[in-house]
Amino acid sequence: MNTIAVEIVTPERVVYRGDARIVVARGVEGDLGILPNHIPMVTPLKIAPVLVKKHEGEDDKIAVSGGIMEVRRDKVTILAETAELPDEIDVDRARAAKERAERRLAENEREDIDFKRAQLALQRAMTRLDVAGK
Ligand code: ATP
Repeated sequence: MNTIAVEIVTPERVVYRGDARIVVARGVEGDLGILPNHIPMVTPLKIAPVLVKKHEGEDDKIAVSGGIMEVRRDKVTILAETAELPDEIDVDRARAAKERAERRLAENEREDIDFKRAQLALQRAMTRLDVAGK
């Protein structure tokens, strides 16, 4: 079968290794579907789930909080700031982070650095909740 290797690493550890029919990731310019033999490229990623589509009904979802994706014809490597698998996600912690971020967004002006920080924290929390299925 025609597959592409996938590796997701953070500064701390290898979070995920597998083989995909297609990898869906959110690049800074939009969603990307990477198939085997894709043209080589490097792109920054947004904070979003990465979907590794394997066989029918067998997909993996990984919470990725930004970083870089390097695509070669036979391999996708994601160097992420943080990344978690669904069963590694502490749902209560992500919910608390989401509430904290929403409070800060309500309290701060749009131009504030704290507002921007809260927006990113909110995206991380929502990505984790999505991947955890919550
Ligand atoms: P928090 O405010 O809860 O710390 P955060 O988005 O600021 O959330 P990060 O700075 O993105 O946290 O991550 C710090 C470390 O904690 C990373 O190793 C990340 O994988 C881990 N982490 C963060 N939130 C969770 C979570 N809800 N479940 C499991 N691990 C998490």
